[in-house]
Amino acid sequence: MLSLRCSDAGFDCSRVIKGETEDDIMKEVSEHASTDHGIRPEDMNPQMIHKIKNLIQVS
Ligand SMILES: [Zn+2]
Repeated sequence: MLSLRCSDAGFDCSRVIKGETEDDIMKEVSEHASTDHGIRPEDMNPQMIHKIKNLIQVS
């Protein structure tokens, strides 16, 4: 199981996103970022995606 703390990505947010694969996490991250943080998928640049992938932890 993989997980990502939204707070590790710099948001004041307690959400922890979990998934089986990196793709699952990234899909949920983009939904969560858009719904709760107002970041549209087209605003996610490659640097942000790279940074987020580096924050994914194996749990
Ligand atoms: Zn969040």
